[in-house]
Amino acid sequence: KVSSLEPREDHRICVCVRKRPLNQQETTMKDLDIITIPSDNVVMVHESKQKVDLTRYLENQTFCFDHAFDDTASNELVYQFTAQPLVESIFRKGMATCFAYGQTGSGKTHTMGGAFSGRDQDCSKGIYALVAQDVFLLLRTTAYEKLDLKVYGTFFEIYGGKVYDLLNWKKKLQVLEDGNQQIQVVGLQEQEVCSVEDVLNLVELGNSCRTSGQTSVNAHSSRSHAVFQIILKSGGNLHGKFSLVDLAGNERGADTAKANRKRQLEGAEINKSLLALKECIRALGQNKSHTPFRASKLTQVLRDSFIGQNSSTCMIATISPGMASCENTLNTLRYANRVK
Ligand code: ADP
Ligand code: MG
Repeated sequence: KVSSLEPREDHRICVCVRKRPLNQQETTMKDLDIITIPSDNVVMVHESKQKVDLTRYLENQTFCFDHAFDDTASNELVYQFTAQPLVESIFRKGMATCFAYGQTGSGKTHTMGGAFSGRDQDCSKGIYALVAQDVFLLLRTTAYEKLDLKVYGTFFEIYGGKVYDLLNWKKKLQVLEDGNQQIQVVGLQEQEVCSVEDVLNLVELGNSCRTSGQTSVNAHSSRSHAVFQIILKSGGNLHGKFSLVDLAGNERGADTAKANRKRQLEGAEINKSLLALKECIRALGQNKSHTPFRASKLTQVLRDSFIGQNSSTCMIATISPGMASCENTLNTLRYANRVK
């Protein structure tokens, strides 16, 4: 297993797409599955003539990515092609980042493993846990044992351009930039973790904090970005860091017009941050001298994870299979296509 942990040197960013199965509601509504994955890196969207107004009819659209996973893929498989190849880099003083991007309900949290355990899914099988498993595995190998590293976890969310600590009762935190352009989230809780079990406990603690006072998990999580980080330290100094980011839902549109002012502001903030993220990834891929990190809190906070010779990024774009989600799915695929 360890031998497959070689970091990729060819790409700055690996972009994958994951399709989820039709759910009960979609099946009941007789929604059609319009997504096919004809090979392991191709996604096709089939818009049906019958259902779509003829003026908007488009040919089948085809997109290529580093990998495309159909609805039978497990979290383990997705992990093997996305986050796993980046894990070892943090032992070599690297920074790694994995984003889950997509419409609300498309499977971001399912993939990351950020749902409550004991609910409808098992968070011990998501990417948070799988990264933790490999980190503790590598920590005990002869190559890294001698570094005497300690492992810490942080969990925070970014909502409306503000940072809230999910391991400290959603305390609002300040983000400061020092003279050396180092970004610091002041007072962010870093909890030491010694096992996968410890990491899962942090995820659960953060999740219970995240939704307090909210009517539903999804209603809230769809409007905020959740950042879970696994940090390696040596003698108290930062050694490497893996940031796992469950992004806010990218859907905008139909409901915006009738939405209230609060929703409109939330939507605008999310749009701004997802646009800034795209621009930053693209600027880095093209080796541009200026990367617009300051355009949003999300990119500002993740700045140190992006910059530097030894940083690597992957994105998992999650899509819903149904015709009813067609517009959002195409938007997700276009975005993923732009950052690759
Ligand atoms: P998001 O975080 O993008 O809003 P979720 O991860 O909460 O979406 O997924 C919505 C629902 O779909 C959940 O009930 C989840 O269990 C289910 N789901 C998502 N992806 C998959 C998948 N690949 N296989 C099975 N069920 C899935
Ligand atoms: Mg979610």
